[in-house]
Amino acid sequence: MPEIIPLTCGWASAKEAMKRGRGSGAARWLAIFKDHAWTPMMPIHVFAIRSDDGILLVDTGSLADVRDLPFVRFQMSPEEEVDRALAAVGIDRSDLSAIVMTHLHGDHMDGLARLPGVPVLVAEEELRAVARPAARLQRRVFRTPLPHLFAPTTLRFDGPPVGAFPRSSALTADGSVLAVPAPGHTPGHTAILVDHGDHHTLLTGDAAYDLPQLLDVHPDGICPDPAVSRATMERILEHARMHPTVIAPSHDPETVRRLAEAEVARSRYERLDDGPLDHAVAETERPRRLRRGPATAEPFRNAVRIRIENARQR
Ligand SMILES: [Zn+2]
Repeated sequence: MPEIIPLTCGWASAKEAMKRGRGSGAARWLAIFKDHAWTPMMPIHVFAIRSDDGILLVDTGSLADVRDLPFVRFQMSPEEEVDRALAAVGIDRSDLSAIVMTHLHGDHMDGLARLPGVPVLVAEEELRAVARPAARLQRRVFRTPLPHLFAPTTLRFDGPPVGAFPRSSALTADGSVLAVPAPGHTPGHTAILVDHGDHHTLLTGDAAYDLPQLLDVHPDGICPDPAVSRATMERILEHARMHPTVIAPSHDPETVRRLAEAEVARSRYERLDDGPLDHAVAETERPRRLRRGPATAEPFRNAVRIRIENARQR
């Protein structure tokens, strides 16, 4: 059964209007520059997934010498850089079988500089998007270049549908770790799905910066097309209705706790008060097939119990 080890490779604070977009079209960018409000510092998470096939890394975090942007401020120590964060949990660069990128923004890819020689997988659409002239210009203006010696392998979603996702790409031989398309934040944005047998974990990257934003289906201010972003958020929530799912966004301060407790699909009981998701709760309470008795079974049962109790209180 794959094991997920979360790491924190830097911290960032964004303009509030970057996290939760305002207005439409070019006004979204204008709103970001005019905004004076900043989010609290958000973690930049990296995930090591240990499976029978070795250790796969999801994203690489930032670097200690990262420069602030007009709309993002960073805070990071050298100890938080990905190679040292990995060493702190006993993982050496040579232990990594591959790195899969959720997308090619600095806070996710800059750490690649500390992991030379490890194969890097990037979704085809993301590679196409960063090659476009507008994207090149943007990288030059904000001085956020692609990593030195960047030679990724193209990841194609040529595998079958899984849950709510129409296509997939297996990242392990047994298919327990998969990449799925989650476009919106960037055109080729990718989520990683881990099948633990009794539940799934969705490493949702920046599809939403945290779970509350996902539940509100509120696109950020920098996504090229908010409608695409919204559709992906709806799809993630739909997936969590189909399978018990731990939702783990890259910048959510609750992600590490949620993973440790295997807190399944909290989304539904958090939204019970609103009413419209009642049918989803009913669906989720159906008995589920438990393939094996994994270590996470107990917290999972607790989560289900909480949901059932909440449903009864209504
Ligand atoms: Zn990010």
